[in-house]
Amino acid sequence: MMPPAQPAHEEGSSHPIAPDMQLSTTYRRPGSKSQVGQHLSEVGEAALDWQDPPVHIYSRFTTETRGRVEKVLSELLQADALTYASGLTAANAAILHYSPTVIAIRKGYHGVHAAIEIYQRTHDNVKVIDLDDEYPKLESTLRGETVNRGLMVWVESPLNPTSEARDIQHYADRAHSVGGRLVVDSTFAPLQETFACGTDMVMHSATKYFGGHSDLLAGVLAVQSKSQWNQLFADRSHLGGMPGNFESWLLLRSLRTLQVRWKQQSQTALLLANWLQSLVAGANEPSEDAQDHALMQSQIVQRVWHASFQPRRDPDPAKVPRQEEGKDFDPSAQMKTGWPATFAIRVSSHHAAHTMQLQTLTHSHSCPRKGTPTDYPTRRTTLP
Ligand SMILES: *Cc1c(COP(=O)(O)O)cnc(C)c1O
Repeated sequence: MMPPAQPAHEEGSSHPIAPDMQLSTTYRRPGSKSQVGQHLSEVGEAALDWQDPPVHIYSRFTTETRGRVEKVLSELLQADALTYASGLTAANAAILHYSPTVIAIRKGYHGVHAAIEIYQRTHDNVKVIDLDDEYPKLESTLRGETVNRGLMVWVESPLNPTSEARDIQHYADRAHSVGGRLVVDSTFAPLQETFACGTDMVMHSATKYFGGHSDLLAGVLAVQSKSQWNQLFADRSHLGGMPGNFESWLLLRSLRTLQVRWKQQSQTALLLANWLQSLVAGANEPSEDAQDHALMQSQIVQRVWHASFQPRRDPDPAKVPRQEEGKDFDPSAQMKTGWPATFAIRVSSHHAAHTMQLQTLTHSHSCPRKGTPTDYPTRRTTLP
């Protein structure tokens, strides 16, 4: 059963609605005659349920605030979640957890590649292959959930920064067919249900959409078994990569607005991406607006990337080599909670990218007109 996201006020004393922030690193041991004190002496610290501990001992293990944010995240992700000091701390914990000999990955966040390089430098005979290479069948991959020295497939979806989606089910099936494990970096679609597609572990940089307010650095790993959670918890307790109480508290604050933020950001990005796409020369649905038409003729916007344009077969004017997507891949199936709120565009020149042209472009027009929701903010702001 999933732990409750809020303390159960009906079973205990009153609880504050806004989460408290405890800053203590060290806790007094409960008296030996108290109920928890006796429980502690009977079961011993090692046997405590660290997801829901009856007492806190030291903040490297558990704290009230971190425990509470992990409960909220566990409900949100329908899994057992742990928090880390940053997205990359979470990525490093994932790599160490599986300790693979072969890692299949292509592109995506540069920091994850740097983390893999450190792992390669410090571990013998680790091979990095392309996501679409043939996956080796390694004897050691078949040993239960905490696999050592096997194959780890790392899929970032949607991709930073283009927001293109990758077919998670496809890579889960391929990884599992040889006994490998699939980790999905789901940072750019915080609410997508990757576990339904066969993912073994989900990683998030909570610095991005979960945090949302640009004032906290944090990471998340989520798994679907308590024993795997216990292993990750024990490792984190001794590697020391947990977030502090203040960041945990900030993250709790942010998660309260995630659903509304995500919905609005996702809708706005879709409108903007479609509008920009209508300015690309030869667009399927060219804009009828005179100003837009002039922009289209200027050919400033050359290409727009957004998961909603997949699978895509139109030629890329810059002829950037691309991997073919599966013809049946429908990204909306794995992103039921909304299209990515991030997209990418390529403009005609360096100059165009660096000057005010694009700011003018997005702020001097009544963009986006078609399908504008009534609650879309009408006041125009200037870019920072
Ligand atoms: C930012 C980011 C990370 C790294 O997260 P930090 O919180 O910056 O350490 C990893 N993956 C993706 C996709 C990201 O966008």
